[in-house]
Amino acid sequence: MTTKTVRHIMGYFFLIIGLVHLTRFLLRWDASIAGWSIPLWVSIVITLFAGSCAYESLRKRKEVRYVCTGGCNGVSLKPGMCQSEGCIKKGKALEECRV
Ligand SMILES: [Zn+2]
Repeated sequence: MTTKTVRHIMGYFFLIIGLVHLTRFLLRWDASIAGWSIPLWVSIVITLFAGSCAYESLRKRKEVRYVCTGGCNGVSLKPGMCQSEGCIKKGKALEECRV
């Protein structure tokens, strides 16, 4: 399973959790765990947290990185050339990587 697939699954998982808690808040559903009644404000906190996690996961799945395949493990967010001393691909273009 690739990182992109995991981010995709986690993004939609958090989106569903956030939507369930938003729905609970809007419809004023009662919820309890072992007799303890969960206040509605907890659902707002969970909605905001799950929403931000979903946004980050779904945003990062489209992120492109540029890597050197010459053995220096060079990674960049922008296209460019390898600049590592001793790398067999120094001065050659980094390769696009969508993981
Ligand atoms: Zn390199």
